[in-house]
Order: sequence, then structure tokens, then C-alpha cells
Amino acid sequence: MTLTLDRRSTKTEERGKSMDSSEGQWFDGGCHCGKVRFQVRLYSESALACNCSICAKKGFINLIAAAEDFRLLAGEDHLSTYRFNTGKAEHRFCTTCGIHPFTRPRSHPDGYDINARCLDAGFEFLSITPFDGQNWEESVGSIT
Ligand SMILES: [Zn+2]
Repeated sequence: MTLTLDRRSTKTEERGKSMDSSEGQWFDGGCHCGKVRFQVRLYSESALACNCSICAKKGFINLIAAAEDFRLLAGEDHLSTYRFNTGKAEHRFCTTCGIHPFTRPRSHPDGYDINARCLDAGFEFLSITPFDGQNWEESVGSIT
């Protein structure tokens, strides 16, 4: 693969990782108690930090993934769902430890919004861009 010398690829190389933007790279993650385990395939180091009412309070760092790029490995029976406002997004959280590993988002109802803070590898390797979820209707078009 060829890496362009932008800030993200430099950071990636420093950590001794390479992410193939065509094949993607699978990352493991889970809740705190370990009952909920998942894998997500990322194609870039880009993440969003949303300032909406729930992401701000949880410190949720958003990784949008298509359905085929997310696997729930364990814990479906330990997950509950919190809904608010339009009720379209399904905010899934572990009923044992309370951690919120992912959402079925309103912006991508067929996909997933993964909490980068739940990755086993940590989230420091990601490039985090602010997302103005307080003005969701105006901002959602910026998510690719
Ligand atoms: Zn848990």
C-alpha cells in the first residue's frame, strides 16, 4: 500500500501500524465488564467527536461503520437500548457495566456508530474531527 505523507499516515507509521484504505483493518473492542465484545473494520483513522446532548455526556467518539464492517461477537443478551428525542437512534449499552459501545445511528440506520473509546487499541491513533451534533440537521450532510 502507499501512504501519503499527511498527518494521519505519519501518526499511523509512528505507531507501527498500517491501515489499508481499500481492505480496511479490523479492531477489537468491548464494554468494561467484557460481556459485550465486537469487531469493527476501519478504512481510515478518521473519527468524529460529537457535541450532542448524549455524546457530550458520555464522551462518545464516533466511528461510523457500515453493517458489514461491524460484528457483535458477544453480549447481545446483555445489551439494552436507550432512545430519546426522535427515537430513531438506538443507543445500545451494557446492562452490567453501563458502558455504551455502539449506537444504531439516526444518520446511518443500516449501520453502526462505534464508540472509539471502547476499542482495545485505544483511540489515540485516530484523527478526531468535531461534529456539531447540537445542530444535527445542518451537520449530518458532512458525514460521509
Ligand atoms: Zn459490560
